[in-house]
Amino acid sequence: MQQPVMSSLSKKIKTIQDNNQQAQKTIKKDSVTYVPKTKSERTTSRKNHVRKLKEEREGRICVRYKCGLIKTMQFVMGQRPGWVEVADEDGEWDFSWCDLSWFRDNYFSYMEEHVRINHFRKCYELTRKNLMVKNLKRYKKNLERDVGQEELRCDFFPCTFELPSEYHIFVEEFKKCPGNTWIMKPVAKSQGRGIFLFRKLKDIIDWKRDSTRTEELRDGPQVESYVVQRYIENPYLINSRKFDLRVYVLVTSFNPLKAWLYRDGFARFSTTRFTLSIIDDKYMHLTNVAIQKTAPDYDPDKGGKWLIQQLRRYLTAKHGRGTVETLFAEMDNIFIRSLQSVQNVIINDKHCFELYGYDILLDQNLKPWLLEVNASPSYAASSREDFELKCRLLGDTLNVVDMEGVLTGKEKRVGGYDLMWNDGPVYREDVNLEAVESSCLTANTHLGCVNDRDKQLRQLLKPFPGQKKTQL
Ligand code: ADP
Repeated sequence: MQQPVMSSLSKKIKTIQDNNQQAQKTIKKDSVTYVPKTKSERTTSRKNHVRKLKEEREGRICVRYKCGLIKTMQFVMGQRPGWVEVADEDGEWDFSWCDLSWFRDNYFSYMEEHVRINHFRKCYELTRKNLMVKNLKRYKKNLERDVGQEELRCDFFPCTFELPSEYHIFVEEFKKCPGNTWIMKPVAKSQGRGIFLFRKLKDIIDWKRDSTRTEELRDGPQVESYVVQRYIENPYLINSRKFDLRVYVLVTSFNPLKAWLYRDGFARFSTTRFTLSIIDDKYMHLTNVAIQKTAPDYDPDKGGKWLIQQLRRYLTAKHGRGTVETLFAEMDNIFIRSLQSVQNVIINDKHCFELYGYDILLDQNLKPWLLEVNASPSYAASSREDFELKCRLLGDTLNVVDMEGVLTGKEKRVGGYDLMWNDGPVYREDVNLEAVESSCLTANTHLGCVNDRDKQLRQLLKPFPGQKKTQL
């Protein structure tokens, strides 16, 4: 089912790119505002200045982009008026949506004022499973020292150790509750690869051997690192199936922290009924789409997903609004605290932004657990609905990054994104005065609420008189 979507997509991309090239020839000067019209722009390099003059002479003001092979991204960028893909490997670009390996291999010591790229240096501090936990543990320890226990809301990640280096502390913890289930995950793999569950130490005895071996043979081949984590044995089930949530958070600055939460996201269901009596069935215990789509009873039309709006409605009908609001507020807490835990480790740079995919698991008490943060969440579509969601998400990411320079910088909402943190919590504007007096300000987050982005964008980006309408 995925195949036809993608092949018709390729044709569509081609048509749109052709149309777009045609359209760019006719875009009048000033119909798309070039960024930024600041003092620093006036002092940009001579080369850039000459290029701009040439483009203005030609009546074509554009954003030159590179975007690798991500089809959804190519589709979204190809539709943006005034955006032109740079096909040449060494060609100059203004905007790059690249994968992590390309980012690592191309160190940018200098970038012009207006240039933007989709990763921060050292972003792996949040997205490598072992480093995320290391940073969260340190952050939690600092909080324990600095603030009271009741303010400490940092118990949202399952107890985790790195193997082989923390094998001995893990064994101590393991022995406290014999019979509990643990999950082993390779730190450098994704999409459920190499993951397994266990209840007996003998099942990971190879690790003990390997850890001793590394100490003895320091020059020998490196052992693959794993994290071992307490398995959430009581996941929230719908139709007896386990699921986890994928939520999108966009960071446009780490210092000061500025983060946006997307309204859409989805729940990914397993195809097999959940039971703890079988622990070696990956279709039952791992909810990754990459795993589930190989299951015999996987339905490609539905893609095993629910929009997060559907999940929110379901939970509200079952547990009431208050309970669900508390759950979503706890998720906000996870996003912010996890970002704060790496705020001083990840290298801030005004040219960078990052779109993170958070994986959250709910337990039967409706407590959310942070499993993982992805720096390159998948944009591949498993259904038409999924494709549309990802196009909205990516389009709005470009709207926030604002290469066209149409925003004022004071917006609290851009399309489906709500500003969640701006060097401090961001509150909704529709809060009534009574609420302000009782200091119950409501966070400006709307995960799983209506995403009326088209309407919002129309209001936000009303064209100036005489300006051609910007299609976003
Ligand atoms: P990957 O990077 O390979 O996707 P994850 O940490 O996201 O690794 O785990 C894959 C899947 O395994 C998750 O989507 C979830 O369904 C399940 N899982 C991972 N950790 C736990 C845990 N501690 N408790 C319960 N289920 C888990």
